[in-house]
Amino acid sequence: MSITMIAMGVALLLAVGLIVNLAVVSLLSGGFHFLFARPRISILKSHLGERGFAFSMKWNSSREPASFNKIRIRLFNPFGSPTQMDVSHEYENVDSSFARDVDMGPAFLELMSAKGLEQASILIEVVSDRDGISYQKEMRALEFLKARREATLDAFTFNDENKIVKAKKLYHTVERSFISEPLPTSNKALKIATNPEFAGQFAGAGAPAGEAVANFSVSKVWIEPGCIVCNACEGIYPEVFHVTDDSCIIHPGAPLNDGLKILEAAEACPVEVIKFTKVS
Ligand code: SF4
Repeated sequence: MSITMIAMGVALLLAVGLIVNLAVVSLLSGGFHFLFARPRISILKSHLGERGFAFSMKWNSSREPASFNKIRIRLFNPFGSPTQMDVSHEYENVDSSFARDVDMGPAFLELMSAKGLEQASILIEVVSDRDGISYQKEMRALEFLKARREATLDAFTFNDENKIVKAKKLYHTVERSFISEPLPTSNKALKIATNPEFAGQFAGAGAPAGEAVANFSVSKVWIEPGCIVCNACEGIYPEVFHVTDDSCIIHPGAPLNDGLKILEAAEACPVEVIKFTKVS
């Protein structure tokens, strides 16, 4: 056998080995993806009461790009009543792993108190209307109720731990600008508190100059219905206020000893839904 034939045989063996190795690596990576990197829906702790549903959706968005905008919960209850229900909630499009805490509305209460839930099942669907796809998680109805009841991780913490920055809603205000006519010349002095000529007339209004207003603690702070999610309160005091998709909530264990800052947030609220009581 000539040296040329031996060399060709070795080259052929090496080429076949390379192809087999590539196939094995590709199968392994596909298997790993199938087992560990599939989109995953989890139930979280909601801060929105009985109608609230908090969940997270984790997936490899660089491998499977999609933009999700809807959560749907479906009840299949063939031996109970009602036999079938479907409630859903839409939010802004999100294109990487995220968590949401949403108000599913009164129908969600009806779904959770349906008769015959022992034999019912629940399908949780995270939907992308834009891409026409959805990911689902199916479970027994009683397991669903238990998972909601016993969840400890909330959406805020999930997003924080996963370094997910929620896109804030933007509210555009009409901008106005004008150039005023020059003021007519006058020898009158401006009647303002900082003008020594009128200082006496402003004495007693507000805190005396140079004296700090005393801070106070509050015993309770809450949000009444009507929040327009403008984010003003969270901008002022993020340790206390957290603005969700459709409302504002108070962080569990929020500090309540800086009443002035809470007052500032309440005064900045355009719809005056932030209420608090001072420690007496
Ligand atoms: S400032 Fe008022 S309206 Fe704006 S997010 Fe906070 S509670 Fe809601």
